[in-house]
Amino acid sequence: MDLLVRGGTVVTCDDRDRVVSGDVLVRDGAIVAIGDGASDAALRPCRVLDASGCAVVPGFVQAHVHLVQALFRGMADDLPLLSWLKQFIWPLEAAHDDASLRASAELGLLELLRYGTTTILDMGTTHGHEVVLDAIHRFGLRARSGKAMMDVGEGVPARLRESTAESLREVEAHARAWATHPRVRVAVSPRFILSCSERLVRDGAALAAEHGLLMHTHAAEHGEERAAVRALLGDDDVAVLARWGVTGPRAVLAHAVQLTDAEMRALSEAGTRAVHCPSANLKLGSGIAQVDAMRRAGMVVGLGADGAPCNNNLDAMTELRHAALLAKTRSGTATLPAREALRLATIEGAKVLGMDDEIGSIEIGKRADLVVIDLGGAHAEPGGDAVSRVVYACRSSDVRHVVLDGVVRVRDRATSDLDDEAIVAHAREQATATRARAGV
Ligand SMILES: [Zn+2]
Repeated sequence: MDLLVRGGTVVTCDDRDRVVSGDVLVRDGAIVAIGDGASDAALRPCRVLDASGCAVVPGFVQAHVHLVQALFRGMADDLPLLSWLKQFIWPLEAAHDDASLRASAELGLLELLRYGTTTILDMGTTHGHEVVLDAIHRFGLRARSGKAMMDVGEGVPARLRESTAESLREVEAHARAWATHPRVRVAVSPRFILSCSERLVRDGAALAAEHGLLMHTHAAEHGEERAAVRALLGDDDVAVLARWGVTGPRAVLAHAVQLTDAEMRALSEAGTRAVHCPSANLKLGSGIAQVDAMRRAGMVVGLGADGAPCNNNLDAMTELRHAALLAKTRSGTATLPAREALRLATIEGAKVLGMDDEIGSIEIGKRADLVVIDLGGAHAEPGGDAVSRVVYACRSSDVRHVVLDGVVRVRDRATSDLDDEAIVAHAREQATATRARAGV
């Protein structure tokens, strides 16, 4: 049966950034008509989703998250990156078992879906990633997701340090197992250069090329990390990663806070992607990425919340607002206006993942991933430009409906097919148990 999303302000995020009043018609999971004539084209009877008084925007794309860390929310506050990892995050990840991984992934996926994120690029931990991939499959999000690969590194717990060969073997097995899934693919994910040998990264890049997969890693995040990389390898991580094969349109660098102008030019020329994670960069004190300069240099930049313990939400709308406001502080008040900020979380994110012919904008022929945002709250009235209201005034609690692949997954602020209370209760239980095992 057709689905008609009726009577909203449709913010398309297409090439012309069109904003149109009217309906969006969805058939077999795809967008088939937009605007005033859409309802005439619907096959009757059809299902109707009321979007009056709302903005209809493309499903949010978060191009850097860690589902396995959702359980650690609030357990590692107020520390810089390397201490945060060594004192809390790595011991906690090492303490994960299959039950806690499942609980963590489900809590993260519930938060993402409930507030309008329909596509993610996700990095796991070293073990048990089958559980995470299975949870993504069951929750129905679009994802590129890979186990974190780590075979060297100071302060890495024994349970997280894999043999190079075993790490590569496992990633290849995951890649083969998920090669034909309609929404999920593996991403080859060396964690960051301080925890990866040259062979792991080079062979990982070869594996990604062979299977047509993304490479997903952290780079140029924190000044202290950058200094450690220089001391160890005599160069910056971005240059070393490029030499080792993490370069080009299939390579995604999360953070990119510390990039120099020359690095931006080199990344742009190579087509390497970057992901801005404003809240995480603020909370870990990493700095403010030069999003405007990166974009002017020609780089493709997406947006992501990173992990729950360094944010502490997985909320696309918070990242949107932070990205827009920080750009003004960093590069001038006119930079990253609301329309451009919204593009980071939609079509630009889709480009980062190489999925922009399928998702990222509301256009005929694309898959129907739609977020319907209520503009009627006192905090978003009295009227005016819908995009400005979405980016600068609305909150994730204004997300009224979410459509994923043509299916209404959130209706009137409630998930339609998930047991939210059971997911949260299970997460609470598993968080306590995991923390006790980790001894932190
Ligand atoms: Zn991260």
